[in-house]
Amino acid sequence: MCGIIGYVGFRNARNIIIEGLKRLEYRGYDSAGIGIIEGNLHIYKNVGEIENLEKSIPQIDGRVGIGHTRWATHGKVSIENAHPHTDCNKKFAIVHNGIIENFKSLKEMLERKGHTFSSETDSEVIVHLIEEKYKGSLEEAVKKAIKELKGSYAIIAISQLEPDKIVGARNESPLVIGVGEKENFIASDIPAFLKYTNRIKYLNDGEICVIKNDGIKIMDLNGKEIEREENLIKWQAEQAEKAGYPHFMLKEIYEQPHSIMETMRGRISEIEPWINLEIDFDGMDEVALVACGTSYYAAMAGKYMIEELAGVPVDIELSSEYRYFGKKRRTVLAITQSGETADTIGALKEAKMYGCKTIVVTNVIGSSATRFADHVLLTRAGPEIGVAATKTFTAQLLTLMLFSLYLGMKNGKLHANEIKNYVAELKRLPSIVEEVLERENEIKEIAKIIHDKNTVFFIGRGINYPIALEGALKLKEISYIHAEGFAAGELKHGPFALLSEETPVIALASKDRVYEKVMGNIGEIKARNSPVIAIAEEGDEDITNFADHVIYYPKLSFPLFSIPIAVILQLLAYHTASLRNCPIDKPRNLAKSVTVE
Ligand code: GLU
Repeated sequence: MCGIIGYVGFRNARNIIIEGLKRLEYRGYDSAGIGIIEGNLHIYKNVGEIENLEKSIPQIDGRVGIGHTRWATHGKVSIENAHPHTDCNKKFAIVHNGIIENFKSLKEMLERKGHTFSSETDSEVIVHLIEEKYKGSLEEAVKKAIKELKGSYAIIAISQLEPDKIVGARNESPLVIGVGEKENFIASDIPAFLKYTNRIKYLNDGEICVIKNDGIKIMDLNGKEIEREENLIKWQAEQAEKAGYPHFMLKEIYEQPHSIMETMRGRISEIEPWINLEIDFDGMDEVALVACGTSYYAAMAGKYMIEELAGVPVDIELSSEYRYFGKKRRTVLAITQSGETADTIGALKEAKMYGCKTIVVTNVIGSSATRFADHVLLTRAGPEIGVAATKTFTAQLLTLMLFSLYLGMKNGKLHANEIKNYVAELKRLPSIVEEVLERENEIKEIAKIIHDKNTVFFIGRGINYPIALEGALKLKEISYIHAEGFAAGELKHGPFALLSEETPVIALASKDRVYEKVMGNIGEIKARNSPVIAIAEEGDEDITNFADHVIYYPKLSFPLFSIPIAVILQLLAYHTASLRNCPIDKPRNLAKSVTVE
C-alpha cells in the first residue's frame, strides 16, 4: 500500500503534489518522490517523510507531474527504490501502488532486450514495458504494458514526449480522479486533492484514463470509451482519510478482504509448486516461534497450524522470556508487526548467537527485525494506524498458514491433493471475509449485550484458544472492559468462580474435532446462568440449543476458519468500545510499536 498522485493543470505541480502526498502519508512513508515535466522530465526522491523530500527539491515550475509515497514491498527502503521509476532514456516516468507478481520473468525478458534496471522494485518493469511498447501514444503503450502484468496495480504515467497528459490505470489497487476547472487530479485517495475539488470520478479495475487539463477520457482495455458519472464528496479532509469511516480501526477491519489478497499474492497457485515462499527449507525440522502481544497469539495459533499441517514440533515463547531463558532450536521464527519490537529483536539476536536459522514475519520491510533475520516473510497488510492490531493480525495468521503449508509440502506430510484443496479454499478467503463484514449489524446487537458488563470471558479449544485470547485482548484494549480468554477446558479449574448472570462468555465453537468438547463446556457455563454468545459455522443448528446468541461464519476448514472468527471478534470489540465512547484509535497508555524492553 502506498499513496500516488498525478496533476495536470495551471498551478505549480510540485507544490500540489507535495501537498497531496502529505495528505496520503498515512498510507506509507518509507520514501517519497516526484516527477515533473518542465521541458524535460525532472525526478526528485528522498527517503523518510515527505518533509525530507520537500526540503531537498528546488522550486521547479512545471504544470504536469506525479508523486509517490512508498510502503515498500519489494526492495529495501532506499533512494534507488523510491518512485517515480524511469525508463532507460528517462523519457517516461511511472508511480505504482501494488505488487507485480510476475516481475521477475518480465525483468529477465526486458534485460535480454537490453533494458537496464536501476532499482530492486517490482514496479520498475512497468516503465520499461511502456518504453518497449511506445509508438507515439502514451495511453496505447500503457494499455499494452498492463496486458503483460500479473498482480495488483494503480499506475500513473507521464512522458516528456507528450507533456500535456497523464495516464492512469488500475487493477485491485485504488485510483480516483478529481475533476477541476482547467485542471484535473488523480490519486489513490480523495484527501490528496480534496482542497481543490470535491468532484470525483471513480476508475474501475481494468480501466485506463487519459487526463489533460481540459478533459478526462476513461476507456476499457480494448480502447472503448466509457461514460462515467461524477460524484460529489461531502466529507471534510480528516474524514476522507478514514474513507468516511469514523475510525481508522473500522476502516482497517474493512480493508481485510484486500489485505488478505495481498498477503497471498504470488505465494499460492493451483499448479505446482502450489506454495511459493522463497525461503530455503534446511533446519525446519524443529521450530521456535517468538513474539509479544497480539503477535504472540498469532504464534500460538501458528503452533497448532505447523504441528498439524507439517508435523514439525514447535515451541512458543514470549520474546521477553526467550531472550533470557530460550532454548536453541534449529529454526527460530519471530513475529513482529512493526519489526521494531525491542523484546523480539532481542530474542532474534539471541537466536542468532545460538547459531539458529532466523525468520521474521513482519509488516514493515527494512525494519530492524528484517535486518537481523536470515529470511523475511512480509505480511503485506499495508500501514495500520489504529493502535489495536486488526488487519496485521489476520495477515500474520495467514502468513503462518502459508508457512505451515509450505513446510508440509516440502517435508512430504501433505499430499498434493490436500495442498490443492487448501489453495482452493485460501482463494475464497477474501470473499468469505466480505460475507462476515456484511454481518456487522448483527454483531453490533451483541455489542449492546456486553457493553455495560464488567467482565467478559472468551473460550475456545485448539486454534480457537489463541483466537479467544486475541478476542479478549482486543476487547480490553479498546473498550476497557475486563476480558479474559481461556482454553475452554480450563474454566472449571478456577475461573468458574467468577461466572454469574453478569459475565457473558463468548464461545468459539468451530466444527473441528473438539466441537463436542466445546459444546460440553458451553453446557457447564449455561448451568451457571452466564449468557453465552457462540461463534459457529453456518449450518450448525445444534448450537442454538446451547447458546443464547449465535454469530455464524461461512464453512471453512482448519486452520482457515480462525480468520473470519478473528474478524468477528474485532467488530465486536469495536462496537462495544464505540457504545462506551472510548478513544478507539488511541487507547490510553498504549502505543503502536513498543520499542522499549
Ligand atoms: N511494490 C512497489 C514497491 O515496493 C510499490 C509498493 C507500494 O504500493 O508502495 O516499491
